[in-house]
Amino acid sequence: MQFDILTIFPEYFDVLKCSLLGKAIDGGVFGVNVVNIRDFSTDKHKKTDDAPYGGGAGMVMTPDPICRAFEAVDPAHDALRVYMSPKGKVLSQRKVEAIAKKERVVILCGDYEGVDERALTLCVDEEISIGDYVLTGGELPALVLINCVARYIDGVLGCSGSTEEESFSDGMLEYPHYTRPESYRGLDVPEVLLKGNHADIARWRAEKSFEITMARRPDLLAGRDISELLPKKKRKHRT
Ligand code: SAM
Repeated sequence: MQFDILTIFPEYFDVLKCSLLGKAIDGGVFGVNVVNIRDFSTDKHKKTDDAPYGGGAGMVMTPDPICRAFEAVDPAHDALRVYMSPKGKVLSQRKVEAIAKKERVVILCGDYEGVDERALTLCVDEEISIGDYVLTGGELPALVLINCVARYIDGVLGCSGSTEEESFSDGMLEYPHYTRPESYRGLDVPEVLLKGNHADIARWRAEKSFEITMARRPDLLAGRDISELLPKKKRKHRT
C-alpha cells in the first residue's frame, strides 16, 4: 500500500520515522510519499494561499497548486483521494478497515481557513474528519489516518491477531489488560486471568467488554442484539 500526502508542511511527517510504522516503512511493508504542494505553485514566491472572496478571517489555499499536485502523483485518478476536513464524515474503525483494502490513498492536508472548494470538487473523492473539533491543519489528521490504516497492513503489527480483538473491532470497547506484577499497590490481577482456563478467560473478557461499553459508550450498542453480545453462561455438566 502507498500513501501520498499533499501538504505545505512536509516536515510534520518526519514523525513517521518513529516506532512500528518507521520500521515498516523502512522494510518496504508500505510506502509514504510526502509531496510539498508549494512545489506545484506557479507563483514566483511559491504562494499557495490567498484572501477569501466575500471577505472574512484567514487565508484560503488556492486550487491550482493542489490540482497540479494531485495530477502529478495520481495522473489517472486510480487512488482513493481524501481531504482531511472537519466537515467530513467522522472516521470509524469500519472506515479504517475499508481504506486499508485500497492500494493507494492520496491525502490532502488543508491549512489556514481551508481549501478553495473547486479543488475539492475537481480532485477529491471524500472528506474525512477525525472528530468534532477543529485543528490548525490537516497534517495531524493525516497522521492519524495513516497510523490507524497502517495497523491493518500485513507485516506492520508483530502479532496478526492484534487488530481482531481490540476496541471497535467487534463494535465494542476492549476488556482491561494486566501484566506483572500480580499485585500492585493493593490492586490484584483478577484471579481468572491467573488460572489459565482459556474458556473462562474468554468469558470474563467478553463480560468486561460488554460492561465497559455499556458504561462508557452505550451508543455503540444501540440497535444490537444484547443476547448476542453477552458472554454465554457456563454450562453445568450433569453427572
Ligand atoms: N474553516 C474550516 C472550518 O470551519 O471547517 C476549518 C479549517 S482548519 C483551521 C484548517 C485545516 O485543518 C482544514 O482545512 C483541515 O484540513 C484540517 N482539519 C481541522 N480540523 C480537522 C478535523 N477535525 N478533521 C480533519 N481535518 C481537520
